[in-house]
Amino acid sequence: MIKKIDHIAIAVQNLESALETFQNVLGCAPGAIRIEEVPSEKVRVAFITIGETKIELLEPMSEESPIAKFLAKNGDGMHHIAFATDDIEKETERLQSLNINPLGLPKEGAGGKKIVFLHPKETNRVLLEFCSKTALTNQDKAACNQ
Ligand code: ZN
Repeated sequence: MIKKIDHIAIAVQNLESALETFQNVLGCAPGAIRIEEVPSEKVRVAFITIGETKIELLEPMSEESPIAKFLAKNGDGMHHIAFATDDIEKETERLQSLNINPLGLPKEGAGGKKIVFLHPKETNRVLLEFCSKTALTNQDKAACNQ
């Protein structure tokens, strides 16, 4: 079952600069936020927690990263919306039964979560991600609670 919007992702050329901008705009305490590398997607990632959801900032680590291709085509901007689910395998099967085919099988994403993407052509030109729900870490909780 889909539980909530887990995060909204924004593709950026420069993660440190974007992180500073979003922390300023959202009134977060500066620093504090951990930057993580996700080798499976060839990206560096930072999450800013806002209440029950997060903003995910994505910077490519190589030219082969899907994010590098997105930036080359579109520049910085909104990249995808992610929905938290309690059972990603079951949701993937449910989608397939509706003839909506995810891009591959669930794989490891940021924060050790399992993720799967749906091609934008299936969903009105918006890239969607499903991710398995995990508890927020203490660092996430501290990130934007002033
Ligand atoms: Zn994401």
